[in-house]
Amino acid sequence: MTSVFKFGGTSVKDGKCIRHVAKLVEAYRKEHLVVVCSALDGVTDELILLSEDARKGTERPVEERLRRLRVIHERVLRQTLRQQQSRRRAARFLAPTLDQLERTARGAATLRELTPRSKDLILSSGERMSTPIVAGALSEVGLKADYLTGGEAGVITDDNFGDAMPLVETSKLQIQQTLGPMVESGRIPVVAGYIGLTQTGDLTTLGRGGSDFTATLIASALIADEVWIWSDVDGLMTADPRIVKDARLLKQVSYSEAGEMAVLGAKALHPRTLEPVAELGIPDRFTNTLNPRNE
Ligand code: ADP
Ligand code: ASP
Ligand code: MG
Repeated sequence: MTSVFKFGGTSVKDGKCIRHVAKLVEAYRKEHLVVVCSALDGVTDELILLSEDARKGTERPVEERLRRLRVIHERVLRQTLRQQQSRRRAARFLAPTLDQLERTARGAATLRELTPRSKDLILSSGERMSTPIVAGALSEVGLKADYLTGGEAGVITDDNFGDAMPLVETSKLQIQQTLGPMVESGRIPVVAGYIGLTQTGDLTTLGRGGSDFTATLIASALIADEVWIWSDVDGLMTADPRIVKDARLLKQVSYSEAGEMAVLGAKALHPRTLEPVAELGIPDRFTNTLNPRNE
């Protein structure tokens, strides 16, 4: 039995939420598991604003945003992880990513120029900072968890920066080769969602909400039995409950209905999410991190 659990930004807001996620993984995992994570809630929005400020060359806001991003991540790392060893391990990923983010944003601000490649380097840093912290939290509850970027996990894409498309067959093969033996040996790969790598080694992003797509791509490569999308709603609804107050929960929807909803803007799902799993009939379950017993 292989499951893929995807935790969105709404599930990883702060240290308390991430520790809760670790407890959920411990309670709900079955035999083999891959975990996919988004950036901390709001961080991708902040990175987009940072890249816009960098492009304009406005130094003050760039510095303020960089400082806030550093403070948030260092604080969440400390809030989440209690053991020296797991803190050090997560910091080994966090520190160079923060440094790289600062260098890229400052370089762009100096030149008043941001290439699509540099922008993806910036946008991908959210998942590269949150996911090692989540992996650390899983280790602290006694699970054998290893952090990987999307590219390390085998998500290989074209170079359409900002909305990159995975090279599906290549990615599936790589994912099988990388993650297959890990899950077989009882380890839990904790993969940064939303990001991939081109064949020439550039970081790419899959478009807003892309972690859902990372999860289903991995599920199809491993021929998983199920995908769980953990979010802050009880399920897919007839409309966005933040906008439509009497939106109803849909108990069950077909792949094509859900796919249509996603394409037409249902934000709970990245538009391409269902393509990989529909082919194989892998069921997707929406689960509320704060109400996991809800069917
Ligand atoms: P996550 O960070 O967990 O991926 P998102 O913000 O991307 O969360 O998606 C969850 C949000 O999507 C919900 O809080 C809800 O407001 C919104 N949403 C939009 N359309 C729908 C829909 N049809 N059904 C459920 N939620 C929806
Ligand atoms: N962090 C990215 C976003 O906010 C991807 C995701 O959450 O799925 O769009
Ligand atoms: Mg989402």
